[in-house]
Amino acid sequence: MAGFGAAHRLQAEGITPVMYDKNAYYGGHTMSFRHEPGFVFDIGPHISFTKDERIQDLFAESVDQLYETIQINLNNYWRGYWPQHPVQLHLHGLPEDVVVKVIADFVEERQKPEGPINNYNDWLLASFGPTFAELFPKQYTRKYHLTTAENMSTDWLGPRIYRPSLEEVLRGAISASSPNIHYITHFRYPQQGGFVSYLQKFVPSGDIQLNHELVSVDPRARLLTFSNGTICSYDLLVSSVPLPDLIPMIVGAPRDVLEAARKLACSSCVLVNIGVDREDISNAHMTYFYDEDICFTRLGFPHMLSPNNAPKGTGSIQAEVYFSDKYKPFAGQPRDWIEPVIADLRRCGLLRDSDRILCRNAMYLRYANIIFDLDRAAALATVHGYLDDLGIAYCGRYGDWGYMWTDESFKSGEKAAGAALTRLAASQLRQRAQVA
Ligand SMILES: Cc1cc2nc3c(=O)[nH]c(=O)nc-3n(C[C@H](O)[C@H](O)[C@H](O)COP(=O)(O)OP(=O)(O)OC[C@H]3O[C@@H](n4cnc5c(N)ncnc54)[C@H](O)[C@@H]3O)c2cc1C
Repeated sequence: MAGFGAAHRLQAEGITPVMYDKNAYYGGHTMSFRHEPGFVFDIGPHISFTKDERIQDLFAESVDQLYETIQINLNNYWRGYWPQHPVQLHLHGLPEDVVVKVIADFVEERQKPEGPINNYNDWLLASFGPTFAELFPKQYTRKYHLTTAENMSTDWLGPRIYRPSLEEVLRGAISASSPNIHYITHFRYPQQGGFVSYLQKFVPSGDIQLNHELVSVDPRARLLTFSNGTICSYDLLVSSVPLPDLIPMIVGAPRDVLEAARKLACSSCVLVNIGVDREDISNAHMTYFYDEDICFTRLGFPHMLSPNNAPKGTGSIQAEVYFSDKYKPFAGQPRDWIEPVIADLRRCGLLRDSDRILCRNAMYLRYANIIFDLDRAAALATVHGYLDDLGIAYCGRYGDWGYMWTDESFKSGEKAAGAALTRLAASQLRQRAQVA
């Protein structure tokens, strides 16, 4: 997405950039794969919920206006209960003792003077009180961010976690049909080919060189070296390579910058894809799992995003099992997680003994979600400062190192290309002045 954003911006200036990708396919994290007998799985559940009309239009044009518009339905699983999302607005149906304790805490917390917020734990306690914080978001944090709320900052929150009023909490506890308040209400998804179809019209904007894994960058000689032996020069370099990989590739990278890049934490993910001979698996598009004895953190149901994502009458499930090089390293093979995922799907009742599994596979995603731990801000400032000094533009989720969705990654690529062009123009002007 970021690479295509950069190419889109450069093309507007009449430049067709060379785009290198280590994979044998384009699309990075937005790729979609087809598995027999006709299941389409994205690399993690991908939906477009951007409110930016320009990006909505670009994506829509890319699929010739052939997309689904769907009202989102999200729910949660906690100790055998299935509350709607977000749980803080849908306490109805949870055990009475839990509901009473959550509301009592919530009231007590709201009466206290606001204390300093030094980390995500402070924010959770101030927002929800200790019972809810511990039972839901803190537990989820350990599964999704692989660290504790005490070790996390709050600069990633934005609209992601809703801070309700007392009235909203009470309504959600009394009534089963309280309003659905979430930062995503509707989403769009291509009718054919999975999420990657949104890139179709961008492909001609670059000269794409697949199977080119960058292994070395010499910023002074302006040379790139790839693992297949190719060496080439560049005028402008815009990189969406994950920072912990990019920095050690740079010839002459100083020790403090290498050390800072090592501190940047990211989750990795095993995605387990399952196709089943039944489509009525769930009525939610995604479900969040809090219990630490359930191996997956989130489930998506790709057949509900487009009917063309699965053969007629069948359904599909994608499970996300999280790890992190820094906090919980992954060992073994992705396929080792297929049977544990199936067992937990049966345990929570989503799969029945009578279901026939038509397709099963697993893949490992080295980079998934940026972890906003307390090391991130200082380490990132060091790394970005170094790249700025070298004139290497960075972009995307793993270049900006932020919690970015596809539209934000695309725009980040556009912005990085724009900044690189400005820099190039300034240096050409300086050279001309020296010659004169
Ligand atoms: C599980 C999951 C679910 C998500 N769900 C959504 C969603 O529902 N909606 C949404 O909008 N966003 C979602 N996102 C976010 C979205 O995937 C990202 O914002 C976006 O895809 C990032 O694009 P990017 O170009 O920055 O990074 P990438 O897609 O990672 O692109 C980087 C590219 O660099 C290449 N590369 C890396 N190293 C090298 C090297 N050494 N040499 C050459 N090439 C290299 C990679 O192969 C890749 O093609 C999700 C992300 C994850 C992980």
